[in-house]
Amino acid sequence: MNNISPASRARTPGKSPSQNARVQVTPVAPAEEHLGKLCSTCGTAILSSDTIVVCPVCSQPYHHDCWKEIGGCGTYGCTAAPVATLKEDVPEDVFTPGWTAEKKCPECGSSIIANALVCKVCRSTFPTERPMTKEEWRDREYDEKELNKIKTNVIIQFILSTLGCLFFIMLPINALAAFTDSWIFRVKRLPPTLKVLFYASFAISALWAAIAAVFILYSMVF
Ligand SMILES: [Zn+2]
Ligand SMILES: [Zn+2]
Ligand SMILES: [Zn+2]
Repeated sequence: MNNISPASRARTPGKSPSQNARVQVTPVAPAEEHLGKLCSTCGTAILSSDTIVVCPVCSQPYHHDCWKEIGGCGTYGCTAAPVATLKEDVPEDVFTPGWTAEKKCPECGSSIIANALVCKVCRSTFPTERPMTKEEWRDREYDEKELNKIKTNVIIQFILSTLGCLFFIMLPINALAAFTDSWIFRVKRLPPTLKVLFYASFAISALWAAIAAVFILYSMVF
């Protein structure tokens, strides 16, 4: 256990994840010395039935799932810690050690320890230990894993939108995504390049629809 305050343990933002090569660990059964220790990622005690990994750098034990979930050690300053990508815009001194020891998971609403990076109930992972509001959570940036899937979606949507004959499918899909902001991916959460690609798809499918409309009108008049 460490007694560093949650605020001082907040991760340094702004570094790319590639700067932090993932540390190789071996999942093992907990040894006597690990039992009852708290996994600092989810805040729950390590039981004899758990599979754990021990950080090769700072020797802190973690649930194997918790380690996988955040991609490294949860101890601040440990060189095996993963690097978060959220831009921190809240001043650190807002959170003092007197601040509540629990926070609400913004995904499932369960009470979890204040500095947890993984919800022990729904296993959502947080880019920061700072409690996130529902809005922040909803509008957070996609993490690497999600982003790879979504990138493919946006690119497919773009390719299909350029095919003129599909405008009657693609225009409603693109419009739904743009106006409801909840179709397959949330447009608001896309990184700028994908956002541009998405709006280009929207514009192209709208253009095809306009061309088709002109064509139909023209053939009706003449
Ligand atoms: Zn854990
Ligand atoms: Zn460590
Ligand atoms: Zn949760």
